Amino acid sequence: AITLKNIVKSYDKTQVVKGIDLEIDDGEFVVLVGPSGCGKSTTLRMIAGLEQPTSGDIIIGDRVVNNIEPQNRNIAMVFQNYALYPHKSVKENIVFALRRLKVDNDEIERRLSEISEMLQLEELLERKPADLSGGQRQRVAMGRAIIREADVFLFDEPLSNLDSKLRSHMRTEIGKIHNKFGRTSVYVTHDQVEAMTLADKVVVLHDGYIAQSGTPMEIYLNPTNIFVAQFIGSPS
Ligand code: ATP
Ligand code: MG
Repeated sequence: AITLKNIVKSYDKTQVVKGIDLEIDDGEFVVLVGPSGCGKSTTLRMIAGLEQPTSGDIIIGDRVVNNIEPQNRNIAMVFQNYALYPHKSVKENIVFALRRLKVDNDEIERRLSEISEMLQLEELLERKPADLSGGQRQRVAMGRAIIREADVFLFDEPLSNLDSKLRSHMRTEIGKIHNKFGRTSVYVTHDQVEAMTLADKVVVLHDGYIAQSGTPMEIYLNPTNIFVAQFIGSPS
């Protein structure tokens, strides 16, 4: 499980995250939604360890991880700007982290073939990133993240650069990947459709605090405040 306990983040004197309490169960798919600037990425980056909370605790499993480096948190991340290594093949982009972790070659090949089948990358493995479409590159970045089989997947608007057709295809794939690997996932988007279709639990952020959290149906049918009702587009 991941627990956020009264997390506050300030830049200079401005609070951008204003006391977030959140409990994420093992295997749960949690989607953070909310308008631009409400603190979604900042919250995700604190879970990842790329930002330090100004106050409050982040607990992953049974460890307080506030002072633990990102690479020691057993998480995998997919960002909106997925930088791939231009001189490495697709295959090397996906597996290089495993080589560094000294995973043996048979295991690398096993995971690679499983993941390249799921993400339809089999035909692309020998190509260079420059010779791929945007959506193909996005899938390579996804493969690179999930191949590490970390306990926690963090996604920050991973589909925002895609056209709507590919986005809906990838949305389905992400759902399948989640079901297959059963990892705990925290997914940031400002797309309500993504939130409602992927989430076990939706967390609606507004101006640095949680406006409401619950299942997609709870949020949609019983918004507890005007902000959530308007943001989600609930029937009135
Ligand atoms: P978007 O949907 O546009 O990605 P977001 O919900 O991810 O928005 P954040 O990136 O978390 O928003 O930013 C929350 C607030 O914190 C914004 O007002 C942003 O300007 C501010 N902020 C983020 N990083 C910094 C920083 N390094 N220094 C100062 N302010 C920052
Ligand atoms: Mg963001």
